[in-house]
Amino acid sequence: MKRRPELLAPAGNLEKLKMAIHYGADAVYIGGQQFGLRSRAGNFSYDEMREGVAFAHANGAKVYVAANMVTHEGDIEGAGDFFRTLRDIGIDAVIVSDPAMIETCLTEADGLPVHLSTQASATNYETLRFWKEEGLERIVLAREVSMDEIVKMKQEVDVEIETFVHGAMCISYSGRCTLSNHMTLRDANRGGCAQSCRWKYGFFEEGDLLTEEMEARDEEPFSMSSVDLSMVRHIPDLVEAGVDSLKIEGRMKSIHYVATVCNVYRQVIDAYCEDPEHFVFDPAWEEEIWKAAQRELATGFYYGIPTEKEQLFGKPRSIPQFAFAARVISYDPVTSMATLEQRNHFSIGEEVEFFGPGFVRFSQVIETMEDVDGHLLESANQAMMTIRVKVDRPVATDYIMRKRKGVRARTLV
Ligand code: SF4
Repeated sequence: MKRRPELLAPAGNLEKLKMAIHYGADAVYIGGQQFGLRSRAGNFSYDEMREGVAFAHANGAKVYVAANMVTHEGDIEGAGDFFRTLRDIGIDAVIVSDPAMIETCLTEADGLPVHLSTQASATNYETLRFWKEEGLERIVLAREVSMDEIVKMKQEVDVEIETFVHGAMCISYSGRCTLSNHMTLRDANRGGCAQSCRWKYGFFEEGDLLTEEMEARDEEPFSMSSVDLSMVRHIPDLVEAGVDSLKIEGRMKSIHYVATVCNVYRQVIDAYCEDPEHFVFDPAWEEEIWKAAQRELATGFYYGIPTEKEQLFGKPRSIPQFAFAARVISYDPVTSMATLEQRNHFSIGEEVEFFGPGFVRFSQVIETMEDVDGHLLESANQAMMTIRVKVDRPVATDYIMRKRKGVRARTLV
């Protein structure tokens, strides 16, 4: 039996917070309405934080608030009040990168633990020691550190370490990027990143006409973005290295993504920590991860510096994509009818897949569907429609129904 690292999930709103915890997260990180880096994520009001904290604590989970923007003159105003309010709400820690914000939290909100954000690019144990001596409880490492460096850090400094295990990577050093600032006038380090690195570009020399050049060379447009991170096959290495918290990226991602990824990582962590000697990686875990993947997956900087193979260059390939079709609200075991809240259109005869916490999943064809008044339906195509569907196996509240939505071009690496 090994000590289990925390599984830390993103929660862009209250619904995602509850689903993440339901699907196995030990903790979630959210944004408040100030000082965060995701201005377009559904940031939490103080009342929503209270509800989220009550739900999380009732389920043995924690809630952290990211307040990790780069602060310009005047931005720190009100930070003391903000941190004190978070502490009084019961938030378990704040994730901060700006030294002045850290100082403000430590001096003005006594008792609220501070975690150093990945934005601060901590990449060596001396840096960890510095921040520990400043009073920080946890360091979220830069994504650019290797597994060997993590092992060294854990040997040298007794401070909690959190590392990213899954999700999008920045092509810049842990988010220190101004592509978005220049191209869209949206400040990536004050919550406005337009994801400019993921747009499609073409190489051309001055004087060339971009499209003609590309046609002549039979070139694909390229993206500056890297492939996404997935350490799903390498959880044993992270556990053995002594990492305290395994973080999933993606506060802007869907409920389907959060539930799928939490469900899988929960399985892998538990399977390894419960019986490391007999641990065998189940390919079904990785198959499941692909159902919520948006790009190719790789191991980032953990096992070496990524090469051009980890960038989104090259010819696309196609991989089946799945969409969040509905969420189960309730289930009647007498009639085998599940009441669903619809999120995407689906019809009689369509093959769908249900999944739930604990890695339960099964496929079936929809044969019987009705509205809340019992009228038979051929299809469900109104947003957030409540419908009943006959299911082949028992389901429970908060199970998710997904459907195949065709294929999407990926980049072959
Ligand atoms: S544009 Fe890309 S590299 Fe820059 S901050 Fe946004 S996601 Fe990161």
